[in-house]
Amino acid sequence: MEASPDDPSSSSPGNRAQSTAARWRGRVVVAAVAAGAFAAAGQSLAAGEGSASPDEDFSAGDAAGSLNTAMAADEQQQQPTHQGVGGSAPAPAMLPVAKSTDVSDEIEKITKSEQISAAREAARKAAEAEAMRPKYHLPALGNFTSGFGGRWGTTHYGIDIANSKGAPIYSAADGVVIEAGPASGFGMWVRVQHDDGYISVYGHVNSILVSEGERVKAGEEIATMGNRGFSTGPHLHFEIWNSNGKKINPLPWMREHDIDPTS
Ligand SMILES: [Zn+2]
Repeated sequence: MEASPDDPSSSSPGNRAQSTAARWRGRVVVAAVAAGAFAAAGQSLAAGEGSASPDEDFSAGDAAGSLNTAMAADEQQQQPTHQGVGGSAPAPAMLPVAKSTDVSDEIEKITKSEQISAAREAARKAAEAEAMRPKYHLPALGNFTSGFGGRWGTTHYGIDIANSKGAPIYSAADGVVIEAGPASGFGMWVRVQHDDGYISVYGHVNSILVSEGERVKAGEEIATMGNRGFSTGPHLHFEIWNSNGKKINPLPWMREHDIDPTS
């Protein structure tokens, strides 16, 4: 935004300050007229050789009254005027025309303050987006083909989600990649340690898109689906290990975090 302070169509503080100046000039004229009347009355009192007529007394009182009224009105008007202008607008006392270097300094200050405001606004929006960002994500889309527990006389320590080879696999939550490479039975796997100490495991992957030590976010693609290792078709084998290293049923953990591969 490039609001020029001398652009008459802009609603910049400079424009408001000009109208404030006009009002000030108006009040100064009123006060000057009243003061002049008072001075004139004073002169006629002095010229009255000590015998002031009732008319002259009335004139002096009337002039003083006008001045007081003008001053009172001035005070009443000052209050809302300053509230309307706001703390950041130039005060009327600064209005007399400044040297051109001062003006360019002022423009530079305004430009800098606008840049600072824009940066703060961007930071605020980024923080808002970060707060709104989902902190959990389905590790893959596809068919839920196998759950956690006993299967074929052994224990299946994770869940299976089947899709085509090369389908994206996402980190289920924010964390750090602690392992990415070959793994017995899984062909290749990726393991991500999350901020609460839990670990998610992604097995049978076809290709790996992250490196060990890399920080990843929930929903970030970390691998593609494959059929490596002990597998009967392209699918993701997904495990959750708790902070003690125990392999737990991923389903309750996933549902707790509003991600459900069965729905
Ligand atoms: Zn499996």
